[in-house]
Amino acid sequence: MVEVLKYDLVIIGSGLAGLRAAFEAARVSQGKIRIAVLSKVHAMRSHSVSAEGGASAVLYPKETGDSIDLHAYDTVKGSDFLADQDAVELLVQEAPKEIIFMDHLGVPWSRMIRVGYFRDHLEACRSRGRPSLRIRVASS
Ligand SMILES: Cc1cc2nc3c(=O)[nH]c(=O)nc-3n(C[C@H](O)[C@H](O)[C@H](O)COP(=O)(O)OP(=O)(O)OC[C@H]3O[C@@H](n4cnc5c(N)ncnc54)[C@H](O)[C@@H]3O)c2cc1C
Repeated sequence: MVEVLKYDLVIIGSGLAGLRAAFEAARVSQGKIRIAVLSKVHAMRSHSVSAEGGASAVLYPKETGDSIDLHAYDTVKGSDFLADQDAVELLVQEAPKEIIFMDHLGVPWSRMIRVGYFRDHLEACRSRGRPSLRIRVASS
C-alpha cells in the first residue's frame, strides 16, 4: 500500500529560494506547520550549490559610491533588458537585508580584514568591461 504523506506546505525546489521560503514559513508559523521541501535532483545538485560563491548587494553605498539604482541598472542590463524590472527592483532593495540576515544565520561570507566588513570582489562584478560598484559577498 502506498504511504500518503500529509503536509501543510509543500515547497517545490531545494535551492536557495526553496530553502529560504521553508525557513520563513517555519519562522512565521513558529514551527507549528509541517513543511516538505521536494526536489527533482539531490539537494547538493541544485544551481544554488553550483554558484561560484558570490551574491550581489549594495551594502556600503557611502564607501563605494554604489546605489540601489546602479545595482538595479546593472541587473537589468545583465539580463539583456529581459528581466522583469519590478522584480529586479524588489530584489536589489531586499538584497542587503537578506545578506545581513543570512550572515546572522551563520553563512560564512568572506570578509575584508577590517572587522565586520564583507569582502569586496569588484573584479568579479564587471558588466561588459565596466567595473561594477556593487559589493559582492562571497562564501568561498
Ligand atoms: C555554474 C553556475 C554558477 C553560478 N554562479 C553564480 C554566482 O556566482 N552568483 C550568483 O548570484 N548566481 C550564480 N548562479 C545562479 C544561481 O545559482 C541561481 O540564480 C540560483 O541558485 C537560483 O536559486 P533557486 O533556488 O531559484 O534555484 P535552484 O538552486 O536552481 O534550485 C531549483 C530547485 O528546483 C528543483 N526542481 C526544478 N524542477 C523541479 C521539478 N519539476 N520537480 C521538483 N523539483 C524541481 C531542483 O531540483 C532544485 O532543487 C550560478 C549558476 C550556475 C549554474
